Amino acid sequence: MTINFVMMIMALLAGSVGSVLLASLVLLFKGSWLQKLSEYLMYLAGGTLLGAAFLGMIPNAVAQLNVTNTLEIVLIGILFFFLLEKIILWRTCANKNCERRNQTAVPMILIGDAFHNAIDGIVIASAFLSSPELGLFVTLSVIMHEIPQELADFGILIHGGMSKRKALWYNVLSGSSAILVGILAWFFLQQMTHLVPYVLAFSASSFLYIAMAELIPEMHKKTKVLESLVQLLLIVAGILIIFFIKHTH
Ligand SMILES: [Zn+2]
Repeated sequence: MTINFVMMIMALLAGSVGSVLLASLVLLFKGSWLQKLSEYLMYLAGGTLLGAAFLGMIPNAVAQLNVTNTLEIVLIGILFFFLLEKIILWRTCANKNCERRNQTAVPMILIGDAFHNAIDGIVIASAFLSSPELGLFVTLSVIMHEIPQELADFGILIHGGMSKRKALWYNVLSGSSAILVGILAWFFLQQMTHLVPYVLAFSASSFLYIAMAELIPEMHKKTKVLESLVQLLLIVAGILIIFFIKHTH
């Protein structure tokens, strides 16, 4: 077993079950400052996801593949994630006034999450197979966007009538798909190393999609000048974190 493999397992644990537990801590203490902290984490995640994609994953894939092919995969990936989200919405919204997330059925939240987490697992595995440093900032980005995400999921599950304990277990279960799929992806990609840059480019589109189609629209729900400024500063801070990790290694 290599150090890289052990690091990847730790990253998978931190990114999945770790984020669920951290989110449940926020839920447990219910402090408004914790709620705020989770919000700030989301803004920061907006930056680290963009930074990890543009400063880490895409250049890394380009170095192994080439610019044209890499960007083609990124483009296809964005369409894939658009469709994936649509399918999940179609399956949940039978009535016409369906508001996303508000009326989403509980099982679909869990299935959608398990799928999302599985992709996070593949992203982490392919990043660690490329370099430990890439693995590090990809994991950071996963943890930061997962905590606010899991917190939102808890809210929906509990609102849907689930007990806190049950909601926690279900979230841990859907989170653990990242661990299982991540390990499988690791062994598969180790045999098929020529596929790593393709998976990396595809992972970059996952990160870009989460940042720009999920987190940024959420941020635009707040329009106050001060809050907007905080958002901008934290996005830039997130990008800078990735930038400095990249340039100090
Ligand atoms: Zn995620």
